[in-house]
Formats: sequence, structure tokens, C-alpha cells
Amino acid sequence: MKVLILGCGFAGLEAAKELRNHSKELEIAMIDRRTRFEYLAALPEILSGKVSPEELSADLNKFAASINANFINAEIVTIDFTAKIVKTGIEEGEIPYDYLVLSVGAEQTFFGISGAEEHSYSVNTLEGAQSAKETLDTLDYSKKVNVAVIGAGLTGVEVAGELVDYFKYKSASARICLVEMQPLVLPAFSSENLANSVRKSLSGRGVEILTETAVQEVGDDTILFVGGKKRPYDIIIWTAGIKPNTLLQKLDLPKEKGWLKVDSYLRVAGQEAIFAIGDTAYFESDSGRSGQNVEEAEGQGKVAAENIIRAIKGERLKSYRPKNTIQNPRALISLGDDKAVIYFAGKVVTIGAYLLKKFVEHRYMRRFL
Ligand SMILES: Cc1cc2nc3c(=O)[nH]c(=O)nc-3n(C[C@H](O)[C@H](O)[C@H](O)COP(=O)(O)OP(=O)(O)OC[C@H]3O[C@@H](n4cnc5c(N)ncnc54)[C@H](O)[C@@H]3O)c2cc1C
Repeated sequence: MKVLILGCGFAGLEAAKELRNHSKELEIAMIDRRTRFEYLAALPEILSGKVSPEELSADLNKFAASINANFINAEIVTIDFTAKIVKTGIEEGEIPYDYLVLSVGAEQTFFGISGAEEHSYSVNTLEGAQSAKETLDTLDYSKKVNVAVIGAGLTGVEVAGELVDYFKYKSASARICLVEMQPLVLPAFSSENLANSVRKSLSGRGVEILTETAVQEVGDDTILFVGGKKRPYDIIIWTAGIKPNTLLQKLDLPKEKGWLKVDSYLRVAGQEAIFAIGDTAYFESDSGRSGQNVEEAEGQGKVAAENIIRAIKGERLKSYRPKNTIQNPRALISLGDDKAVIYFAGKVVTIGAYLLKKFVEHRYMRRFL
């Protein structure tokens, strides 16, 4: 029996590890377009230079070998569900499967805003974060530089904090603005307490926060906002919004807003042998809708793996219960200056928050040593 895992991020790696924990005999293959796992949750710290790309990434070949799985470095092009074959961009790249786990994650969206993608950096990949850092290093510092962070969600807030640190370490002068379309920062958390606490911290560190401000167009050196205001920029870091992986468009599977719709067992709706987990999946139950975060990606990876083993044995599958939902989100959000905030059960805690965030990161990355 062969299980093929498509995408080796938080969800895919958890599923692979858990499958091996349950079965020594199962054939496990993992495919990713990258050769290294990327710890996305700390990528904003690449900007300040607090962490190196090596610290936030790990060799997927080595990981696969450690659990006696096969790693294939290839772009997944499409899937033939009738023949049960995944087609990849490499020679002899047609890979058969009995069970499939789809965990290809999400992509940055620029909402089709004119000039946005062309003129912005995204820190949603290690390559993107490194490229933004390289540009920061080469700006003209004979004048005050203008930096715009678009989107004050979790990533935008973290990026703004790291940028303050970057300019502090460099002793350079910069004007950093954090732009958000909604009235509050961190709108997905719907918490005035959290928004006020984060706003106070970032404003206190010199970040100009522009809420209820939407980007209409990005030109060569100016951002035009809806309503007509303009702002010059030297660099834009775009953190507003994610969209489903473009691969999903090619797959004739049930979707909700482009994400793969899964049943209570994390199987793609109507499919016996195909599971979808992590950012790729759209999971909803009485307990709420899974958020797109590491906790859900890992939790789903575990349960999908267990359900594959149960399905092979002909046993009853286990229902998934989300913990970090859209309705009740929780997070550890760094703010730069070695500070962070924990948002949990509607409460905002700052004491020990940054240490906890770093502890979680180090504990995760230790699995690759
Ligand atoms: C900058 C940033 C900061 C974040 N901060 C936090 C945080 O603080 N806390 C939190 O809980 N969540 C955070 N998140 C969200 C979290 O990282 C995601 O929810 C999580 O990574 C989802 O895991 P996943 O396995 O579904 O996808 P991913 O981790 O994105 O993995 C998907 C994998 O699929 C591969 N892939 C995609 N398409 C193809 C293809 N066609 N062919 C081959 N391989 C492919 C990719 O290379 C990648 O390795 C953050 C995300 C970003 C981008």
C-alpha cells in the first residue's frame, strides 16, 4: 500500500511522521517543489536578520530518510484520479498511489490590484523574505527611506515590528507605515483588546498605522489609495491575503471558495482515498471552521494519517475536531524588540510571549537535527 503526500509543509510532514508512527510497513512517498522545509511562521525575522535562512529551513531528503520514506523533489503538475497517478514536472515523473494526501498550502494574493505584485515583496516564502532583505540592504540611506507594509494581519504586524528592528540595528532612518483596509489591525481576531495592544506597541516604536485605507494601485514609486491619497515608497512588503494554490484549479474536486472541501474525516468530499489537510483544506464542523494556521495544519496531519491507517485496516474513521478556528482564533504574534503577544480564549498576554514563540520554533526545528 502506497501513500503519497503532496506538499511537505507543516501539514504534510506531520502526516508523514504520524503514518510512520502507526505503520512500519507502509510505503510513504513525499513530493515537494522545494528541497527544504520552510518554517513560515518565523519568516518575518529574516528581515531583521535575527535568524538565518538555515535556521528556518531543513533538508527534506534527510527528514524523509529519518522516517524511512521516499522524498521526490518535483513540481506537482496535475493528478489523474482514475489512474491514481500524480504527474510531476520531472522525467519519469508519473507517480502512482493508493492513498493521497493533498497538503500544498496557500499562495499570496495581490487581489489583482494593478502594479501590486510587480512592485511588492512577499515574505510568504523563504526566497521572498531573503529577496526583501537583500533589497532593504541596498536602499539609498542618504535620505529617510519609505517602507510600506500592506495588510495588518498576523504577518503584516510581525513584519512591521521586524522592520523597526532592522532600521534600529542599521542605525538608519525610515518611515514605516502599516496599511489596513479594515478599522482594526489583526481584523481576523475581531478583538479590540488585541488590536489596541498591538497598535500601541507598534505606534510606540514609530510605525504609522493607517487603518480603513485600501490600496487602489501601485506605481513605480508611489502607492495610490482608494479616495485619492498617495504615498511614496522605496520598498513595499505585501502581506495582505492568501489564495488557494493554483494547482487546485486543475483538480476536478469539490471546493469551497477554491479550497478543497473535506468531510469530518478530512477526506476530500466524495473521495475514499484522497485526504486534504492544512491551508489547502476547507474544514467546517459544529466546533467551527479550521483556521489556516500551524496548529490546524499539524492537527489535521495527525488525524488524516490515523484515518488512512484505519481505512487500510477497514476500521471506522475518526472525526476531526478543530482547535484554532476562524470563530475562535488563537496565536502567538511577535512585535519585534524581542516582544510578542499571546492571544488565547479572548485574552491578551504579553509576559513570556516572545520566549514561548521562540521555544515553539526551536522545539519544532529540533526534529530535523
Ligand atoms: C509569513 C508567514 C507567517 C506565518 N505566521 C504564522 C504564525 O505565527 N502562526 C501560525 O499558526 N501560522 C502562521 N502562518 C500560517 C502557517 O504557516 C500556515 O498555516 C501553514 O504553513 C500551513 O501548512 P501547510 O502544510 O498547509 O502549507 P505549507 O506550510 O505552505 O506547505 C505547503 C508545501 O507545499 C509545497 N508545494 C506547493 N505547491 C506545490 C506544487 N505544485 N508542487 C510541489 N510542491 C508544492 C510547498 O513548497 C510547501 O513546502 C504564517 C504564514 C506565513 C506565510
